[in-house]
Amino acid sequence: MGRGLTMLALIALTCGVGACHRKASGVDDARMLAAASEPENWIVNGGDLAGRHYSALKEINTETVGRLGLAWSFDFDTTRGQESEPLVVDGVLYVTTAWSKVYALDAATGRQLWFYDPQVPQETGVNTCCDVVNRGAAVYHGKVYVGTIDGRLIALDAGTGKPVWSVQTTPKDRMYSITGAPRVARGKVIIGNGGAEFDARGFVTAYDAETGRKVWRFYVVPGQPGVPDHEVSDEPLERLARPTWFGDTYWKAGGGGTAWNAILYDPDENQILIGTGNGTPWNQHYRSEGRGDNLFLCSIVAVDPDTGAYKWHYQVNPGETWDYNATQPMMLADLRIGGQLRKVVMQAPKNGFFYVIDRTNGQLISATPIVPGITWASGIDLKTGRPIENPAARYRNGPFMLSPGPGGAHNWRAMAFAPETGLVYLGVMQAGLVYETAANGFTVRHGGPFNDGLEHGEGTLSRPPSLAVPQVVTRTIAFDPVRGRIAWSLDKQGGGFLATAGGLVFTGRGTTTGELVALDARNGRELWTVHTPNGVMPGPITYAVNGQQYIAVVSGMGGAQIGSAPNPTSPQPGRLLVFRLDGTARMPADPAPPPPFTGTGRALQPARISHGAALFSEYCTRCHGVPARASNQIPDLRRSGALADAGTWRQVVLGGALAHQGMVSWQRFIEPDDAEMIRDYIESEADMAMKGSARQPDRPTAREQAQ
Ligand code: CA
Repeated sequence: MGRGLTMLALIALTCGVGACHRKASGVDDARMLAAASEPENWIVNGGDLAGRHYSALKEINTETVGRLGLAWSFDFDTTRGQESEPLVVDGVLYVTTAWSKVYALDAATGRQLWFYDPQVPQETGVNTCCDVVNRGAAVYHGKVYVGTIDGRLIALDAGTGKPVWSVQTTPKDRMYSITGAPRVARGKVIIGNGGAEFDARGFVTAYDAETGRKVWRFYVVPGQPGVPDHEVSDEPLERLARPTWFGDTYWKAGGGGTAWNAILYDPDENQILIGTGNGTPWNQHYRSEGRGDNLFLCSIVAVDPDTGAYKWHYQVNPGETWDYNATQPMMLADLRIGGQLRKVVMQAPKNGFFYVIDRTNGQLISATPIVPGITWASGIDLKTGRPIENPAARYRNGPFMLSPGPGGAHNWRAMAFAPETGLVYLGVMQAGLVYETAANGFTVRHGGPFNDGLEHGEGTLSRPPSLAVPQVVTRTIAFDPVRGRIAWSLDKQGGGFLATAGGLVFTGRGTTTGELVALDARNGRELWTVHTPNGVMPGPITYAVNGQQYIAVVSGMGGAQIGSAPNPTSPQPGRLLVFRLDGTARMPADPAPPPPFTGTGRALQPARISHGAALFSEYCTRCHGVPARASNQIPDLRRSGALADAGTWRQVVLGGALAHQGMVSWQRFIEPDDAEMIRDYIESEADMAMKGSARQPDRPTAREQAQ
């Protein structure tokens, strides 16, 4: 702890940007361990190894926050979704953007120092469930590490942005992607991947940070029986996991369990904690004959950082069947619970409960509901650690309205912890989705659609009122993990969170436009707010240069929200917004209105419209929204120039004419007349919109909620 002050004072005196720049080489294990003691920097994702998203800086505080103004902003070269948490090392800010690009900026002025574009082939964008986002980088020993949408892990020279090494971490013949931040520990870079909506088998790999040489790999779910991976996970998979899986669909489909977001290094217990994802296909009825716990889906798995050897696991949802996962951010703490000091890991996974788990052995300490209206379980049994499920929730004998929906009561957005209040701050969402087992069985499909094993026929478009899903309600909550209760809540959306010693919590909101707010950490009172041209999804960070404190946040519509927007606009670039006291920079302008609708008034047959709507819901909504309306970062097709011309439409949908922009050919899944019926449906929606009678989107769909 004492290490920093003298050295940092020295750096402050002697270090121009260039010198500070070289100092990135100084990020090592010791410095990461003591990250909280140098609050002028934000050297690891999460702010410190505990993932607290907390800073001891307090120049900006409850008294001064009213003076907060824009210091500078920086436009990215992409209009796609932005979920990144920047890093700051000695005056240099590193930020990743959509399409896995990286910028190094002067943290005080925003001047670009370097830019790296990994040239991700845009047709690989189809491998993402929820936009081509990236959630951040890692910095270590003079290198910046980034994972790419097409599955590479790249080490860049922190001083120049030039690649030092690059490895392909994922098989290219399956729909894997990387959107999460790499995690560095003990000389290794650890990276997971996504793809459990498609045909992926999740795994986490550790690479030597200097050379990129693979050190270990841990598969999350078992593969083909009798075919070992010759990896460290073979033993626990055969001993613990294999007996919990049934049939042969799981390994043919991939099985899922992808660790696409949360990976944490716990130095106290010398372990890597891996948050794992949902099953592939979603529906356990098809994935595993409807039985078994299906380890290690939807779990926190602890492994040795040097070898990847299994230590313990806690499974949040045994036999997961709802796209519930445990990939949400984790946070380490030492809490006095029941008079005893407990080393805990905390997580609010998708399923609506807030978990406090003993991180020395994986035993559950508490699990508290944090949203109203949970339908799948009445609680979590603290003795067994297992949920008390509603039997109907497994939709074996008919459709079931699941709440929280597949978007989760809480998802990837950062939680923050303030030691001054003892509270964890997070955004939660109450939503729902009707789950129904696909009537015609399940066959795994590669290269395009979700593999969920759910019913998508026309019958799903008009369900009885008894299956009505709740209106989406988002809230900001402050959770007391010791007492297991919500200390205060705010009926307003919360994105990712930052807490500071200034008594403040910061969070962003919005969709196509948005705001950044500062709340009083004690009671949630809104102390400061600023309108932003883009919605804000990830958590802000804070840092200081030459004694001046800054708040930085990445903004940009997209992610899982890409297909839903109450107020579509013309696309606008994602941005970094940086604030300081008395900042006077001018906020960029709001985005322009969207292009006009392109309905034709052509006579359309209701039966074809209805069939087209069901097809659209199955294949198109995850990018283009429902009912046929999108944020327009990816085009709202009711406004598409291709709509009026059948030939152009066919060339795009089936011929792959826009594959280089990410719209791949769907001809393997969609017949020519089906494509035409989808066009009929969108045209009908465009016609309705032109007449001003368009239905308003009332809820996110499964596609929009999924991660
Ligand atoms: Ca998922």
